[in-house]
Amino acid sequence: MKQAAMDVVRYGRLLYERGLTNGTGGNISARVGEMMVITPSGTCKGMLEPTELVTVDIASGKAVSGTPSMETPFHLTVYQERKDVNGVVHVHPRFCTLLACAGIEIIPGLTPEGLMVLGRHVPTVPYATPGSQDLASALRQKIKHADAFLMESHGAISVGKDLKDAYYRLETLEFHAELQYRCLMLNKGGPLPEAEIKRILRN
Ligand code: 13P
Ligand code: ZN
Repeated sequence: MKQAAMDVVRYGRLLYERGLTNGTGGNISARVGEMMVITPSGTCKGMLEPTELVTVDIASGKAVSGTPSMETPFHLTVYQERKDVNGVVHVHPRFCTLLACAGIEIIPGLTPEGLMVLGRHVPTVPYATPGSQDLASALRQKIKHADAFLMESHGAISVGKDLKDAYYRLETLEFHAELQYRCLMLNKGGPLPEAEIKRILRN
């Protein structure tokens, strides 16, 4: 539990210092057995102490103590639906959020790295009120099909085999959102040819 709490604090600070989230936006969690450690609601993710984190039972959703993130419902959904996932990052990075507000889908196939880290498809989760069961349900529909998501008019989510993996995926997602935005501004660029996409993904 202590290691997971230290990881959450560490990646929260990295996300904030690298400008991937701002103000008190976003939330981060890590699975520890039957529980998850999650950031407390309404706090800056760059300035957390391990003792502030909240432990929540994954099956019941009950917090051991304190006030967990308002997005606890969708973090629980991820751990309930994906036994292979042990870390979840949700933030509001500039370019991901811009595309998510503009209704533009991410194109991972712009680069080989995008395909390898993000997969063939980055689904957009349809808008639902932050913290709602509707938002958790909307993510539930998509969670088996990808590891990175835009959230319509809100931000981004990434998941990984551990928190480090989810963090790297989020960085890559934001890099690709910026790349895509700049290609759009240049009116140039596009995905790799389908044969090359298949070769990279080996299917
Ligand atoms: P919390 O501070 O409650 O985690 O909420 C931040 C957020 O990004 C809501 O979507
Ligand atoms: Zn949010």
